[in-house]
Amino acid sequence: MTEPYRILQSVFGHHSFRAYQEEAVNAILAQKDIMMILPTGAGKSLCYQLPSLVMEGISVVISPLLALMHDQITALSTFGIKASMISSMQSPSEIQETMQACRKGELKLLYVAPERLKGESFLNFLQTLPLNFFVIDEAHCVSEWGHEFREDYRQLFRLKLYFPQTPIAAFTATATKIVEHDILHQLSLSNPLIIRAKVERDNLVIKADYRNANGREQLLAFLSGFEKESGIIYTLSRKDTESLALFLGTHKILARAYHAGLPTEEKNETFRAFLNDEIQVVVATIAFGMGIDKSNIRFVVHMSLPKTIENYYQEIGRAGRDGLPSSTLLLFSNSDIVEHKRRIGEQPTSEYQKVAYEKLEAMAKFATSQVCRHQQIANYFDDTINPCVTRCDNCVDGEKESVDISHEALKLLS
Ligand code: ADP
Ligand code: MG
Ligand code: ZN
Repeated sequence: MTEPYRILQSVFGHHSFRAYQEEAVNAILAQKDIMMILPTGAGKSLCYQLPSLVMEGISVVISPLLALMHDQITALSTFGIKASMISSMQSPSEIQETMQACRKGELKLLYVAPERLKGESFLNFLQTLPLNFFVIDEAHCVSEWGHEFREDYRQLFRLKLYFPQTPIAAFTATATKIVEHDILHQLSLSNPLIIRAKVERDNLVIKADYRNANGREQLLAFLSGFEKESGIIYTLSRKDTESLALFLGTHKILARAYHAGLPTEEKNETFRAFLNDEIQVVVATIAFGMGIDKSNIRFVVHMSLPKTIENYYQEIGRAGRDGLPSSTLLLFSNSDIVEHKRRIGEQPTSEYQKVAYEKLEAMAKFATSQVCRHQQIANYFDDTINPCVTRCDNCVDGEKESVDISHEALKLLS
């Protein structure tokens, strides 16, 4: 048995590698730069955690969210793996302590917030360590063409300047070809191995429809097919999450609201209850997302148009992680486009606003188009597939009569 395989079983307790994992692990062990584009929940973390255990030194993971880092470190500790983090949320003495542990070789993984790399002294500190490789988690954050650009990720160009010999492994769930190239360029990856999973999720049935004046009735009709099964309903505003959760309650559907404005305790409790199937539905803004690891989500509904196909794909991708048939429904209306435009800014002037408009337009086209939904998503991510025939409304229902409205929708964006 190879060393990675042995560790997979003895440390992580998994029987076998999932698709693409072994390839990534071997490339990292061979000191190659890699970039991996694999859906959320596919198991990207293992691809860098496992090689870190095989290698002698320490691996440094750049991650955009403190909560994500925290979850990872907690999960690693249950496997008996020593990991820690350095971020602005910690006191100077805590940071000193962690740095000391790194120097003594007590840690296998160090999680770091990207803004750390601005400081010369921190880079100098890293240079004193026996580094295995750098991990850039959620690597799409480095690109302005992506959907979650973060200014601090721009610092990452320093890595190859300061550490030309240290390989970089970049991970993301969604990247168009443009974003992919941008990431390679921004990080100066050298001759990287690129591992890109196929985009199509063939256990998902995808539907989209105009939301009429009784959007909630449309929702109830859909939900009647999912008694007692878990699902997520996305709304645009925080207020809507709460009123819709109440509305569902009056129809005997156990639902709770989730948005960034709620107290942390309440959010954690909702999260926990959902994971344990104590509630059926979470009505959420896009704040409910990163890091959700629940395999039996049977449906995802959007009560309004998402702002990008990247967001939409990631959100519907939370359904059916266990591979069982699952459904998604997008309900949209032209007023959603107006609202998104208001949020972006009426007249797009900055580069950021122009990109946001383009992405919104692609999303609106997707919603109103008569082409196979799976095929449209695949095309958007530069993958080529045949029409699904049986797993989307456009393939199943054929021609629709709503072409006029879609004209209206696209006019709003021109
Ligand atoms: P990603 O970062 O791609 O979104 P994660 O790394 O968070 O996904 O992994 C998602 C889940 O998959 C975790 O619960 C993890 O334990 C599990 N997992 C990863 N690899 C395997 C494997 N080879 N066998 C079984 N479960 C795995
Ligand atoms: Mg991840
Ligand atoms: Zn189809």
